[in-house]
Amino acid sequence: MELRIVYDNEAKEGLESDWGFSCLIETGNKKLLFDTGASGAILSRNMEKLGIKKEELEIIALSHEHWDHIGGLESVLHPNVAVYVPRAFTRGTKVRIKETAAELFEVSGPADIIPGVHTTGELGTGIKEQSLVLDTSEGVVVLTGCAHPGLSVILDAAKVFGVVSGVIGGFHGFDNLELLDGLRTIIPCHCTVHKSEIMDMYQDKAVWCGAGAVIEI
Ligand SMILES: [Zn+2]
Ligand SMILES: [Zn+2]
Repeated sequence: MELRIVYDNEAKEGLESDWGFSCLIETGNKKLLFDTGASGAILSRNMEKLGIKKEELEIIALSHEHWDHIGGLESVLHPNVAVYVPRAFTRGTKVRIKETAAELFEVSGPADIIPGVHTTGELGTGIKEQSLVLDTSEGVVVLTGCAHPGLSVILDAAKVFGVVSGVIGGFHGFDNLELLDGLRTIIPCHCTVHKSEIMDMYQDKAVWCGAGAVIEI
């Protein structure tokens, strides 16, 4: 399975950085886009530079209904895409998705999306958020949007799909850094407040995240 960061607060040269997050997952012959960044224009330009066409996306999964994750949605919706959102999304957003997309799935509990890709279901008491759980040959890797429900809550929820061996995405204010100790892959992105501390503490396995980063899991 290959992940490509399409939108992030940081970027490789030639790509645009902006506050927000989007990650492409390619597995088998399927392409899934997780979150869509804040700006459709920036998302589209980064996708073009990375050679990703929106028509190739079979699935779009949205972590939570914040502008920096759903802002680019309309620029990637197309009539053959299935969209997965937490059930708590507002009616207005759901209606807009249904107007263009082939199908809208409202996620509540843990579920399978495509082979090898699962959702934790919507978590959290304030902002409801889903994270993705990706199968690898050595446990599962968790992909988060902003981790508003708390990274430890999300990692716990992911355990129903296997032993958690890695985590990628926005960790928000997560500061219990010792909790990451047993993981093989640690890739803090987007809104992670303690990104530099995590990179320092886990120098042997933490990997830089930014638009253009390619991650094989
Ligand atoms: Zn957020
Ligand atoms: Zn965010």
